[in-house]
Amino acid sequence: MTTRRQFVQSLPAFAVAAQILEGDPAAAAPAAPATGHFHPKGKPPSEFTKEVLRKARQTLPFGDTRDFDEQRRGLIAPMKELTIKNDAGDVVWDMTRFQFLDQKEEFDSVHPSMHRIGQLNNNYGLYEVVPGIYQVRGLDLAQTTFVRGKTGWIVFDCLVTADAMRAAWKLFQEHKGEGLPVTAVVYSHSHGDHWGGVRGVVDEADVRAGKVQILAPRDFMEYSIAENVFAGNAMNRRLFYQYGVLLPVGPYGYVTQGLGHAISRGTSGLIAPTRVVDKDLEEIEIDGVRMSFQNTPNTEAPSEMNTYIPDMKALWIAENVCATLHTSTRSVGRWCATRSTGRSRSTRRSTASAARPW
Ligand SMILES: [Zn+2]
Repeated sequence: MTTRRQFVQSLPAFAVAAQILEGDPAAAAPAAPATGHFHPKGKPPSEFTKEVLRKARQTLPFGDTRDFDEQRRGLIAPMKELTIKNDAGDVVWDMTRFQFLDQKEEFDSVHPSMHRIGQLNNNYGLYEVVPGIYQVRGLDLAQTTFVRGKTGWIVFDCLVTADAMRAAWKLFQEHKGEGLPVTAVVYSHSHGDHWGGVRGVVDEADVRAGKVQILAPRDFMEYSIAENVFAGNAMNRRLFYQYGVLLPVGPYGYVTQGLGHAISRGTSGLIAPTRVVDKDLEEIEIDGVRMSFQNTPNTEAPSEMNTYIPDMKALWIAENVCATLHTSTRSVGRWCATRSTGRSRSTRRSTASAARPW
């Protein structure tokens, strides 16, 4: 088993927020149950746990399978490679670890709701949200979205690592990208799983030359640095307990992480925004596309914003609403206000930085 020290040493030099680090990918083989208190490979469930899970299976509405239908909707192409490697040949993303979730109807050691979320997180490929808006899902904790501009693609959120983002862009270009370049990037919020992979699709020289714009919500840099650098060590320490990241993946250890399965390993980085959306509501045209931004501070993140694209009747609601197990919100009042404003738009489709659109 990888020691904590070895694992920490493998983390990107740029410390990232607690919610964005992956479990031990070296432990790829599903663990067999072991006996003993705190056995590193996990242990079988107690009779008490089995009874709790049995009741959950009987009382929750598992006959309703709309989540699966909606998750599959718009699939353009599955990602064929179950592993993604960086230039040095190291595996940065490994979906083989999570295939066990589809191999059984139920596990007596996994809560049925978590099992379902895990199965939904096994979606892995390129999807259409509406014509002109596409998403690559399942290559990292969050997902990335491509919006057609006049001369290229506007990227909404960039995964955690450049390596995973490069693979997402390649898949997208193989099917829908038409060889057009990235003309702008929008960071939805200050959590690192939404900007860490930006260098996988953008060359900083192009940003400096004015060829690529990068937009971010108010106070983005302040909070990105505060959470990932100033508090980086403490946040990293917390995540070992929060997510059980050293547990082997399998029914007796690490199962999934809610928003997505895990965090890609690889190289994270940040390119500072060239334009900060300062006002509460601000309309900006980017590469010929009208976009209405709404700052939503202190909701799911201290710095976050939604985007409404009126000509496509599409609402990108960042991580403020996700059709999955959700990150907790900081201010319920602010969050409700955000949702109300979002709902007041004439929307054909809403989508977010994780899970399926609705
Ligand atoms: Zn977030």
